[in-house]
Amino acid sequence: MSGNKTSTSTGAALPALVVSLLGLCWGVQAQESVARKVEPWWLNGAPEARAARRLQSLHPEQWSPQEAERRVLHLAPTMGEFQGYGKLRLLDLFATAALVHLVDDPARFRQSLYATYEVLEPLNLLLRSSSGSGFWSFDNVTAACPTVFYSGEAWDVRERGVFQVNVPFTTWQSYTGAPLTPGVHRLADHGLFQMYDPQANKWVGACNAGQGKYPPLGLATTPALVRSTLFTVADLTDYRLEIKRVATDWARGGYVGVELTLTDGQGQVLDLPGGEVEATVSSKTGSHEASRLSLDPVVVYERQGLDARYKFVARAPQEFFDFDRLEINASVWVRAAEGLLREEHLSKTLNRSDLAPTTLAAFENRERRKDARDEAGKLRESRALTVHENFVKWWETPEKARQTVAAAQQMGMNILHVYVYQHGLSYAPSKLRGTVWGDAPPPVDTFALLIDEARAAGISVQPMVCTASGAMGDDEKGWAAPQMLKLHPDWALVNPQGKHRNIADMHSAEFRAAFIAYLADLARRYEIDGVSLDFIRCIEQCVCKRCQREYRAKTGGDLVKDAAKPPFPVRYVEWQEGAVAEMVKGVREALNGVRPGLKLSTWGHDPPADRLSSIQGRRPDVWLNNGWIDWFAIGTYGDDPQQALAYWREIARTVDHPECVWPLFATYLGAQYRTEANANESVPITLTVTGDKIHGGVFARRPQVLVPMYKAFRDICKSNGFGLFDLCYVTQETARDTGEVLFPEAAGPW
Ligand SMILES: [Zn+2]
Repeated sequence: MSGNKTSTSTGAALPALVVSLLGLCWGVQAQESVARKVEPWWLNGAPEARAARRLQSLHPEQWSPQEAERRVLHLAPTMGEFQGYGKLRLLDLFATAALVHLVDDPARFRQSLYATYEVLEPLNLLLRSSSGSGFWSFDNVTAACPTVFYSGEAWDVRERGVFQVNVPFTTWQSYTGAPLTPGVHRLADHGLFQMYDPQANKWVGACNAGQGKYPPLGLATTPALVRSTLFTVADLTDYRLEIKRVATDWARGGYVGVELTLTDGQGQVLDLPGGEVEATVSSKTGSHEASRLSLDPVVVYERQGLDARYKFVARAPQEFFDFDRLEINASVWVRAAEGLLREEHLSKTLNRSDLAPTTLAAFENRERRKDARDEAGKLRESRALTVHENFVKWWETPEKARQTVAAAQQMGMNILHVYVYQHGLSYAPSKLRGTVWGDAPPPVDTFALLIDEARAAGISVQPMVCTASGAMGDDEKGWAAPQMLKLHPDWALVNPQGKHRNIADMHSAEFRAAFIAYLADLARRYEIDGVSLDFIRCIEQCVCKRCQREYRAKTGGDLVKDAAKPPFPVRYVEWQEGAVAEMVKGVREALNGVRPGLKLSTWGHDPPADRLSSIQGRRPDVWLNNGWIDWFAIGTYGDDPQQALAYWREIARTVDHPECVWPLFATYLGAQYRTEANANESVPITLTVTGDKIHGGVFARRPQVLVPMYKAFRDICKSNGFGLFDLCYVTQETARDTGEVLFPEAAGPW
């Protein structure tokens, strides 16, 4: 465990503060006045003093039930020996510095958070974020990569009451995340909280995994906490703060916008969203009439490209007179190179005659995207729907094939990704693969029928295949002909324990050739418009004899040794990537050989920052840039556009055509994420649109929830396609709403 390496004190309960904080938080009326000792001037800027001031403007009673729930940390162990349940609520959390000096040595990085929390149900525990998956995860918005921080404090949850703790970052070195780089850091998540026995100082478990019935602490989904923990990292050996730009429309009920920037020691210009910015708007005609506005940082995407910035914006009050004078005051807590924390102030005053009006849309760089339309004026926007063959058994009867197409049409979708290959079996008739019908041919070719129906409805069929899935059931003994690996056991992946897995070995040239031939044959026999590859990755590590031999011949290295643990040597990562690339390239060439214009897409990606820790060999960025695929989809299953865009941008900035990185929205809400507060956002689901049974524990998400996601990706990312996963989580009701609310305008595939 790493210790506390900063100069700030580690956390402990502050019993003296508890009483006064309770009074502050819940507005208890003082019945008598009590003299309080005034803090010495040199403590006013201390995080403790700032925390107390912040609590004066905190109003938990005004939180929505959803927010109150998101701030709860359930102390329910998901691993370890500890038994029991406790609960705390995070009242406040802020970054002690909004601007911090960049260092190479993690031990010398001086940043901390400061937390105030209320223990609602105590447990005999201390909580730490100092090891393993227990870390604070931040997005570097400027560099578009995640960085995680371990911290050196302990959260005491042994007694009921309100407590405060300083959370000093100790290191960013972890199995995940990128090293610290300059840029704006935004809180994205907290992993596990490690639970320690306070007496023995022994690890006894971990909580906050978001499994079971307890949702994880909703840090990134609580805007106030995201706002108060923003900080910028820069080279502060020399720096200049500036109110770079002020913008307004000078209109009644209009807005005030400010760009607050820093020029650092390297000459890099960065935003300071962690600062505080206020505007006083007033009019010459009545100097007593003034209104003070507090500006909020908002993410603004540059007009060209994908760089994101932060600007500050506030709306002027509707009832206010036309204003003609603006006074901007900004302050920033800076922990500069020498390590001292200080507050810096800036101000700027402008009159109407100094500044031409600008619209808010222009200040925020909205209006980035224009609809793509065909000659008849029809919107061109791909909307792809995956159809899981096990829950929507479209292949079983003509009626189910028709119901599948009808649901997709009602939903406003224009691409159908029906799964035709899964667990080593084909769900379309084929001579090159064992089929779900075994030896007997199917009574009706439901795949051909589905294609006919879909084409008549203006829907493109691009079947999806689980590329690396080789057999049904985990254990070899359960495999049965004609599942692929039962027929071709030598194509199975052999893991480091020597077990034959139900996964195909991507390194087997024979497997790849056979799979490519199967897809080419499908494309030849059916009027499909393309193919989509799912599980186009290694999934696990193969160390079979053939792989060992070929690896040595190719790289000179020892496969077993190189595959042992992350970070892997580059040659091993390239070995994995090479095998998957061969498959993608091979499918592309085969499809080109059948019919020009067939689309090829893939699903899934790995964070670029984790390349040397990844065994998957999954590089859709490379495949797209090489022209082997037409687009790829990434899972953006939540409902928070900010989070989803940050995740998307990490990937999209690695490709030449970011509009070809499609978001894939979830049509379901897992039971663990369904709470009393969001219960009306989803409906129970037992039967799918074809009447097939779905497993328990999932809810169909109301498409209304996805509207902000759709708009964000359409307007900001200029996405030319969207995916929905999956038709099996759609009910008759949510199918109708998808067409009416989420995709009200009909569109043809892009
Ligand atoms: Zn192998």
